[in-house]
Amino acid sequence: MRLESLELIGFKSFAQKTEFNFHKGLTEIVGPNGSGKSNIIEAIRWVLGEKSAKSLRGEKMSDIIFSGSDGHHSLNRAIVKLTFDNSDRYIDIDYTELSISREIFKNGENNYYINGKLCRLKDINNLFMDSGIGQGSFSIISQGNVENIFNSKPEDRRYIVETLAGIYKYKNKKQETNAK
Ligand code: ATP
Ligand code: MG
Repeated sequence: MRLESLELIGFKSFAQKTEFNFHKGLTEIVGPNGSGKSNIIEAIRWVLGEKSAKSLRGEKMSDIIFSGSDGHHSLNRAIVKLTFDNSDRYIDIDYTELSISREIFKNGENNYYINGKLCRLKDINNLFMDSGIGQGSFSIISQGNVENIFNSKPEDRRYIVETLAGIYKYKNKKQETNAK
């Protein structure tokens, strides 16, 4: 399982179609202040289902749509696509290449796609649950996160251990069954 590419259109400062290809090994993103480094990480969090506009430094979710700059008018839609090489079938889906997309329109309409097919956020969450990749996982450690883990309550720390151990998925299924 490997992150292969990230494609952005209309997401924050990326007005025009921009593609990042991640090759084997370590990728480092460098650039001057305000050039969009944090926006790239936010795009990854967003496409994986981030629900909090505030944590993406906005008021409402549609604020992530490119709002215009010198020489470029504002846009009506943002779309982000994240593609993984799944040839080892790390994610339980019968595709060598797995892509997740999310789009949002100015009116707030929001859609998710798995390999180009319209789906629910729940489908994406289920796909990535316990993979260490999805929403709220520990594959993205932001500034301050490390301290939070050290200072967290025992039950929150237990959640971290259970997620990393891959048993949270089963707890979640049990809870869903019990609720029926
Ligand atoms: P630093 O090194 O200071 O952390 P950075 O490279 O992480 O900077 P970002 O915070 O990713 O930079 O990018 C900030 C830029 O993105 C700002 O210039 C801001 O105007 C622009 N930006 C944010 N949201 C939008 C939007 N919706 N439309 C257009 N531009 C946007
Ligand atoms: Mg930054």
